[in-house]
Amino acid sequence: MAHQRDRSIVTLVLEQSMERIAHAQESTTIWDTAVIEAHKRPLDMAWMDRNLGIWFNEYAGFDEVYVLTSTGQPIYAMRGGKRVIPENYIAVEDVAGPMVTRLRHTNVIPKTIDGDIAMLSPGQADFAIVRGRPAIISAKPILSDSGNIKEKPEDQAVHLGIVFLDQDFFARIGSQYGLADARYQIADGADGGESSVALLDHRRHVIGYLVWRPFAPGQQVTIMMAPVLALVILLSIGVICMLANRLASRTIDLDESRLQAQHQAMHDGLTGLANRAMFEQRFDEALGRSRRHNTPLALLFIDLDRFKKVNDTLGHPAGDLLIEQVARRLVAEVRGYDVVARLGGDEFAVLIGEPDQVAIDGVCSRIVSQLGLPFSVSGAQTYIGASIGVAIAPDHGFDRTELTRKADIALYRAKAEGRSRYVLFDPEMDEDVRAREAMDRELRKAMADCDSQLRIHYQPVFSARTGAITGVEALLRWQHPINGLVTPDAFIRAAEETGLIEVLGQWVLRRAVEDAKAWPGLRVAVNASPIQVRSRKFVDCVTSALAESGLEAERLEIEITETALMAASSEVTTALRDLRKLGITCALDDFGTGYSSLSHIRDIAVDRIKIDRSFVHAVNTVPGAALVEAIVSLASANGLQLTAEGVETDEQYAFLRRVGCHEIQGYLLARPMPAEQVTALLQDFQPTPRLPSGGSPPMMIA
Ligand code: C2E
Ligand code: CA
Ligand code: CA
Repeated sequence: MAHQRDRSIVTLVLEQSMERIAHAQESTTIWDTAVIEAHKRPLDMAWMDRNLGIWFNEYAGFDEVYVLTSTGQPIYAMRGGKRVIPENYIAVEDVAGPMVTRLRHTNVIPKTIDGDIAMLSPGQADFAIVRGRPAIISAKPILSDSGNIKEKPEDQAVHLGIVFLDQDFFARIGSQYGLADARYQIADGADGGESSVALLDHRRHVIGYLVWRPFAPGQQVTIMMAPVLALVILLSIGVICMLANRLASRTIDLDESRLQAQHQAMHDGLTGLANRAMFEQRFDEALGRSRRHNTPLALLFIDLDRFKKVNDTLGHPAGDLLIEQVARRLVAEVRGYDVVARLGGDEFAVLIGEPDQVAIDGVCSRIVSQLGLPFSVSGAQTYIGASIGVAIAPDHGFDRTELTRKADIALYRAKAEGRSRYVLFDPEMDEDVRAREAMDRELRKAMADCDSQLRIHYQPVFSARTGAITGVEALLRWQHPINGLVTPDAFIRAAEETGLIEVLGQWVLRRAVEDAKAWPGLRVAVNASPIQVRSRKFVDCVTSALAESGLEAERLEIEITETALMAASSEVTTALRDLRKLGITCALDDFGTGYSSLSHIRDIAVDRIKIDRSFVHAVNTVPGAALVEAIVSLASANGLQLTAEGVETDEQYAFLRRVGCHEIQGYLLARPMPAEQVTALLQDFQPTPRLPSGGSPPMMIA
């Protein structure tokens, strides 16, 4: 902007300089006396010097003055403050001649740009090179100021003033308008950073350049402001550093939260142990190491035995506390670089690198015993225990999936063998698994056509008092086309594991209530797996089966094992309550095997208790007899019906009858049989009940 301003100032100043020169001429060129003197012959040279020549040099700084006649002849000349011979004009004639001609033809009073100056007479002014130097040259006619002397323009004498644009001129403009180093240059060779303006004559021919060093306010400000600026820069640097620092710390925060997210993605939130994803990663790494260095790697799958019960009875927060304690105990039993992971719920896994058999046995038995110790949760002592399945690389393979599967099989075996133990995988177990899988396939086939391969046998149940048949228990049979009759023990669990049990159980239920219609007054008991009972559809299924068959609800009994009820969730309890509301009775099967305290009997919401055959078989021992007696009296006192299962001898029968057991079931009286046989049996049934031989008291060891 400053540069632009300078250029317009310079252009203006040059124009004004020209106007001032012309205006200065008018101080004597418009004057009657001057007209007269210019025409006087010979000229009064002294007057000319005083008024038109030397005077202009002194008064207005003119360098040269010429006075021309109407024909353009020079009659007076002044150069540098001295009168010279008029022939000096020759040197300027080239430039001045055309101007004078123009003056005589145009004869108009020029407009000025400088508001202070009003031009009074016509004139011609121009920039020109005179004697090799730039100059302003101005021509003015010498006129009458009074108007008394009338002359045509072509008759007028002309006053010619020349001012060289010398160093002084430029220095003057420079100081006047703040243009540093102002000077004239023929060529526009302004140094870098300098400004210039072309001097143009009236034909717009360049006659040179006015060059100056431009006013750079920014630079000046910069210099003036340098200390402040330095301070500002320092401050800015400080602020930037601070921001950068903050940015860096944000980035670190971000990194941290990313790491945290990563940690969360790879760790279990509750225990801080590795989660499944992390475990699999670590497992693969460890397997790689194990393969490279040919060292063994043991995988332990750990499952808590009675966790679900704690969770259900004490609530999830207590369950969480328990899991945390388990995690701590696990970590305490392994070395720092062994991996402990929580795979979900109550499942844990441990990886032990470079172990020998003794070390594995050591770790496993320590874990089993540590997790077998009581846990203190919500102020109560709880026992849960753990089962462990172990697979070892390279003995059992080098593949993660393979080892996982094998550890799982071993764990399954540990649970099947009674829990709270560890089992090392054995290739034989694979056979069992394969057999189970084959069983599953076969079972599915069988279920596709239930009626052709599946049958129900009914085992009669007798009144201990009268010996009459009071009911039957429906027991599932599988008539396999190749393997023959398969017992339920062999396939019920497989069906439970694969979920087939629901369909299977439904089929049994429908079939049993249908068959029972042939045996008026008899109760039909149907076994139900906890998996079935837990399902919300179960009660509906029972209801609709009853509705379809038209069997009275009171004649149906649902048997559920004590272990199932013990481990049961609230869903099972709710289902039992709903069934009983419908009039259906519920029996607690295999009573005594579930380790529930006898005092629990009064809390159990069932109608009947079935004493497990292991207790019945033990009645020939003192503690066995005492136990059964206790069960009977406690149950009776609580209004529960009692059935003794697996009664095989007269002695057992006699004892049970004597202690007050209500009903008897066992090979002694009847084996499970097809429905037609039950019908036949009922027809043949004699009212004389079968009583223990001789009616003598049962054999007891005193
Ligand atoms: P459970 O409910 O305890 O059934 C009684 C089992 O004892 C039957 O075995 C029966 O044949 C057998 N038994 C009866 N009297 C005697 C005896 O005097 N001595 C001996 N040693 N055994 C006797 P089974 O039929 O092999 O059934 C085994 C188990 O399979 C049943 O035990 C029951 O838990 C389950 N089960 C059978 N059918 C079904 C069913 O339809 N659904 C479900 N969920 N489970 C079933
Ligand atoms: Ca049963
Ligand atoms: Ca039973």
